[in-house]
Amino acid sequence: MHPAVILEQNLRAVRARIAGACERASREPAEVTLVAVTKTVDAATTQMLIDLGVRDLAENRQQAAAEKLPHVPGLHDPGRPRLHFIGPLQRNKVRRVLEQFDVIHSVDSVKLADEINKRAIELGRPAVDIFLQVNVAAEGRKQGLEPAEVHEALRELAAACPRLRVLGLMCMAPQADRAEAARPHFRRLRELAHVPVNCGLSVALPSLSMGMSNDFEVAIEEGATHVRIGSLLFEGLPPLVDAGA
Ligand SMILES: *Cc1c(COP(=O)(O)O)cnc(C)c1O
Repeated sequence: MHPAVILEQNLRAVRARIAGACERASREPAEVTLVAVTKTVDAATTQMLIDLGVRDLAENRQQAAAEKLPHVPGLHDPGRPRLHFIGPLQRNKVRRVLEQFDVIHSVDSVKLADEINKRAIELGRPAVDIFLQVNVAAEGRKQGLEPAEVHEALRELAAACPRLRVLGLMCMAPQADRAEAARPHFRRLRELAHVPVNCGLSVALPSLSMGMSNDFEVAIEEGATHVRIGSLLFEGLPPLVDAGA
């Protein structure tokens, strides 16, 4: 089968599963953005996704993205898809990431947020959409703010980073055999997105970036608005010689 045909079938299957999860949760599929994670595929495959109507693409490494994305013609059209940065972000890469990407999901410290705000001013970018990444499972080696730090970080950003628009929170559930194991972590993220304002009132941040190939349906049931899906979309495609991790 031609790769585009395989990709189209995979995409249709993923969209059907998103719709199924939405139905179980009494949600509208339009509330859930499929963010296609293209970090393991080449420019031609990325372009095929755009041709199939995918409107949101994600990469996790600035350098690899800088080499690949110029070779994706659909990213240079006026109505191009939105580009999401989802990987660990060092402060010295912020400027380049801002030049390439529309949304950053992996803001894991106030220091990094400050740097993004500062660079946005330098670049004349009026607003940058971000998610704060939270280490929901409190695993020592995973990146992200500790759950207990999230609300204080939001207060600091509101005071010090006027160029940043915090869409919501992002997390990665720990690897597990069963998708169900991720549920408490996703639920925790949703609860953290309710930010106390005063006198017992809280406001909910609008977006939750959670759920990957192996657990996105559970994430949608728990309120995900952005699911980041890679490997499931590319199942059955011939492997690349030089696939990034
Ligand atoms: C790679 C990656 C994904 C997609 O993972 P799959 O299991 O391939 O769907 C999602 N989020 C982040 C942060 C990633 O690095």
